[in-house]
Amino acid sequence: MPDAPVITRFAPSPTGHLHIGGVRTALFCWAFARGHGGRFVLRIEDTDQKRSSEDAARGILEDLAWLGIGWDDGPELGGIGGDARGIGPYYQAQRLEIYQRFLDRMLETGLAYPAFETGDELAAMRAAAQGRKETFCYRRRADYDRGAALAEMRRREAAGEPFVVRFRMPGEPVRVADTVLGDIDFDEQHTDDFVLRKADGYPTYHFAVVIDDELMGVTHVLRGQEHLNNTPRHVALQHALTHEDGTPFRTPVYAHLPLIFNSDGSKMSKRDKDKAVRRVALADDSSKGVAADLVGRGEFDAWQADKTRQLPPEKLHALAVVFSLELPEIDVEDFRRSGYLPPVLCNYLALLGWNPGMKNADGTDLDRFDMAFLCEHFAIERIGKSNSKFDRDKLAAFNQSAIAAMAPGDFAGVLRAWCERYDAGLLTELGDRFGLGAAAIQPRVKTLSQCREPIAFALIADEAVVFDEQAVKKALHKGEPSGLAVLADFRDTLAGVDPFEPAPIEEAVKAFCEGRGLGMGKIAQPLRVAVTGGTVSPGLGDTLALVGKSGVLARIDRCLRECAG
Ligand code: GLU
Repeated sequence: MPDAPVITRFAPSPTGHLHIGGVRTALFCWAFARGHGGRFVLRIEDTDQKRSSEDAARGILEDLAWLGIGWDDGPELGGIGGDARGIGPYYQAQRLEIYQRFLDRMLETGLAYPAFETGDELAAMRAAAQGRKETFCYRRRADYDRGAALAEMRRREAAGEPFVVRFRMPGEPVRVADTVLGDIDFDEQHTDDFVLRKADGYPTYHFAVVIDDELMGVTHVLRGQEHLNNTPRHVALQHALTHEDGTPFRTPVYAHLPLIFNSDGSKMSKRDKDKAVRRVALADDSSKGVAADLVGRGEFDAWQADKTRQLPPEKLHALAVVFSLELPEIDVEDFRRSGYLPPVLCNYLALLGWNPGMKNADGTDLDRFDMAFLCEHFAIERIGKSNSKFDRDKLAAFNQSAIAAMAPGDFAGVLRAWCERYDAGLLTELGDRFGLGAAAIQPRVKTLSQCREPIAFALIADEAVVFDEQAVKKALHKGEPSGLAVLADFRDTLAGVDPFEPAPIEEAVKAFCEGRGLGMGKIAQPLRVAVTGGTVSPGLGDTLALVGKSGVLARIDRCLRECAG
């Protein structure tokens, strides 16, 4: 379809939070559509009714919106999405009639057929194939009687009894032309008569995805390599299906994206958080007891017995707190809570399996860019074949430099929004000192969740400051005059500073030093020790202003009393 406008889609199953692999797929689809003046479709694949939820779907939409990955066609959320092309609805569970229409025709023409085996019968067939050392491959029996099968289907339908509908796979190999991996031939073993409609009446993923991609005009399917084995089924269906007027289905351009690995070589997965908690919570009887109390005995026992079972996120996070465990960030929500900036996250994710192939002026690889750059330069041809590694240190470094480069007002806005969601207490504690706090925090953190550390001294009671012994010796006791003496001398000057803000405070310090013929360090370090307990803190003006005049004077007085020789 060389001339068709580009239409891409992201098609998440709403079975949990949006994870980082999914975001990478969405980002590539979005950037490719944007860069080609095309459209980006968001479709919710909720045909697994037991595992899907509206909450999860909404969470996915919100995460994408937060990241700045907006969709043209799809569920509406705050002005994003909508059905301008009239191709919705975008929840597959609301499209059952559409699938049924195609299925009826397939049954009529013999492309599909009903099958009545029970789960036990299928299991026995699988075991028999295994015994023959063959891969189980469901095929219509040679003595299949079409008339009888359709009659039984009608009878079961009327009686509300279960049955599935399968695709009659043409018994021939299927070639998948993948833009990233090249042509891949799948033999018949990979393409059995798979199920199109499940016993619960819902279509399978394979069936719904092919119908929807066609009806939504999707020209390019970019998705993770874990879906590669599904693609021959989709291609076979596309070859077999036609619209009502006889127009054949098209096969979109496929690009399967490389897998994402952790730095320890394991595949990055939604289960990583659960695995981390298991290692600690199931380590010994006492940790098991603690975990069982928190999780609930029944759920805990089932979880312990089944390695593939995952606890719900809120329980994992609660256990992580109890065991002082830092969970690996996997979901968008995890990265948001840690305090990564959306454009940084997108910039970093874009490098997992793709790069712009450009150099900076100094000859290093160009790897920092914004969303507009990504849309302009993203090309399927530059997607790599090999697995990519998720380097958390590199992401943190990206985030740190992006934070440091922000205009102070912008940073304060971003930090405030983060606090409103994750640490409202800090807003209350800082009150009208928030701007000062943000200025002190900005150059000192990699992520927003580290925001308390650089200003911890300003968040404690005056009596709670612990004067570090080494710092006291070095900054207060040594020299002539001693730090303590200088501090005592400066105290009243400081009491007169008004307003008690960074610039006037620094001017007062400077004037005092000049008047006494002292170097700046001679008063700066004693002041830091008195006010923060140690010798490392943000700029002196910021530090003192953050603590406030009465706090500073109380701390100095306490220091003069308690640290005297
Ligand atoms: N619903 C599938 C998933 O979430 C989509 C796969 C595809 O892109 O075709 O994995």
